[in-house]
Amino acid sequence: MSAFMDFWLIVVLAGFAAGTLGTYACLWSAESRRPRLICLMYHRFVTDDEYRRCRGADRIYSLPLARFEQQLDYLRRNGYRSVSLAEAVAFAERRATLPERSVLITIDDGARSVLTRALPRLREHGFCATLFVTTDPTAYVFDASEPEQQRLTDDELRALDPDVIDVQAHGVTHRPLTSLGDDELRRELVDSRAALEHILGRPVRYMAVPGGWYDGRVRRLAREAGYEGVCVSDVGAIRPGTDVMRLRRVNVAGYNDLDEFIARIQPASLARIRFKTALRRVPKRLLGPRLWMPIRAVLRGSRSPGQVAARHGS
Ligand SMILES: [Zn+2]
Repeated sequence: MSAFMDFWLIVVLAGFAAGTLGTYACLWSAESRRPRLICLMYHRFVTDDEYRRCRGADRIYSLPLARFEQQLDYLRRNGYRSVSLAEAVAFAERRATLPERSVLITIDDGARSVLTRALPRLREHGFCATLFVTTDPTAYVFDASEPEQQRLTDDELRALDPDVIDVQAHGVTHRPLTSLGDDELRRELVDSRAALEHILGRPVRYMAVPGGWYDGRVRRLAREAGYEGVCVSDVGAIRPGTDVMRLRRVNVAGYNDLDEFIARIQPASLARIRFKTALRRVPKRLLGPRLWMPIRAVLRGSRSPGQVAARHGS
């Protein structure tokens, strides 16, 4: 009996090992294909002092300005050119090609630090970015006690030069879209877009899903609501043939130093991150946002579960 059990244990372990290696090989192969476009994902910009006070998830989604400058400097010195989201969508839809060293810079939520801290650095380096704005200024991703992390006012949004900061949608309240019924989900998609179009006086065609929570229903209703491209938080590069309603990005965490930043945009590293992320997302997918977000808050040891749930990424 024992030998029989050992045999099946070996079979199961061998199967698991083969499956794991096979999955990694597929991801490595997918990430190595060219041409490819890297889409970077940022959130809030902080000073070194502010970063030292960050705890929990804020250490991921707040980026010290000095690091942002180093990253932009690296991209410029290495011949990268930033592209608009419209160019990225055209590239994914095989309507346009892009130079090999292209990068799409995206910033989520719409905190004032984008205007006061990121914009001058982007201009200085000759880069543009797409800003996904959550329209409700009281949404929990904004920090009313810190002027730099409050939502940009309507006037500030209107004053942004769209050739440098292109404003697109990011929901009304930043709630996980997968947790909403159809009617509420439609309101998040339609109302956020309408509010931004009213503020900006021009069409809003793209969005990023808040918190990376999406599924087939979210993508379908986003398309029905008129969106022509959706950024998600899944890790990976964009390439010709990529589904434009699921554009992968690379999150740049506040604690990533320059070497880690450089590593994160290489194919082998992206494959490794995708592999680890796929494993980590098993509980998120199984439990859903309502159950998983409080558990994640506790695991990340932030100031309070509510704050972490609120001030999570994307
Ligand atoms: Zn967000």
